[in-house]
Amino acid sequence: MSDLDLRPSLRECGGRAGVPGQPVRELLNAREASLGATVVRRLLPNLGRRMVGAWCFVDHYGPDDIADEPGMQVPPHPHTGLQTVSWLHAGEVLHRDSVGSVQVLRPRQLGLMTSGRAIAHSEQSAVPHPRLLHGAQLWVALPDAHRNTAPAFEHHVDLPVVTGPGLTATVVLGGLDGAVSPGTTYSPLVGADLALAEGADVRLPVEPDFEYAVLTMSGATEVDGVRLDPGSMLYLGSGRTELPLRALSDSGLLLIGGEPFEEEIVMWWNFIGRSHEEIESARKDWMESTRFGAVTGYEGARLPAPELPPVALKPRGRVR
Ligand code: MN
Repeated sequence: MSDLDLRPSLRECGGRAGVPGQPVRELLNAREASLGATVVRRLLPNLGRRMVGAWCFVDHYGPDDIADEPGMQVPPHPHTGLQTVSWLHAGEVLHRDSVGSVQVLRPRQLGLMTSGRAIAHSEQSAVPHPRLLHGAQLWVALPDAHRNTAPAFEHHVDLPVVTGPGLTATVVLGGLDGAVSPGTTYSPLVGADLALAEGADVRLPVEPDFEYAVLTMSGATEVDGVRLDPGSMLYLGSGRTELPLRALSDSGLLLIGGEPFEEEIVMWWNFIGRSHEEIESARKDWMESTRFGAVTGYEGARLPAPELPPVALKPRGRVR
């Protein structure tokens, strides 16, 4: 997935300032963004909050009926300094990248792409494709020690599950209650899919050192007493050992969390760096060099980078 804004904003995020040391309940509303033919609900970065642990970007899309539509059509575009996590509840996405991966992603399979220093990828609904498309894409910022690692793509179909009465939690990335995803991680974090049956009333064990947020993909759930419907995310702060969840209907939630990301980063378009100069040179390399490699098999033009805004980017804290 790509930030397709023609004039993307600069985001300076990271650092411990602004991370509450105690539980909070902060409702974050989505902003609608257009991703080619698809409209997505962008939950991170948000006006009031830019990161949750190392998670720095969250888009939720669908469920959309794309029977007579092209569906997702994101041309080849670059990434640096991050991992992308693709997670579907319905539909199929064909992923191609510049390390040679060609993979159809299906519901409840993890597509994990580590950009490291440079990667390019495209994401498309195949032809033909299922009627419904419903999913999320998330980005994880790589810590400085690993952000120039070699680009890689992983596809995991067998993910660990934690169960409780009316709860099936699939550990997408990182660890939850002792269950650990096979996806490669570079900082302590968790991403988990929580399927709750109507009436389920559970307390999910969580890490007091992690900050957390939950978003609803379908249904309605009370998360620590706050009703969450699709289109919003509840930021929960840290200092919890368990998280109360009460399903008002059959629901699908995503839990993200992690140790507060100490490093200050600069995010612009599809790049994460540490300085304005670094972002500038990534942009130039995408437009003028072969640094990102080629996505073979994609029919059509790749995505040109937008113009950089004239002001210099400086990394800073995580709350506006
Ligand atoms: Mn992307």
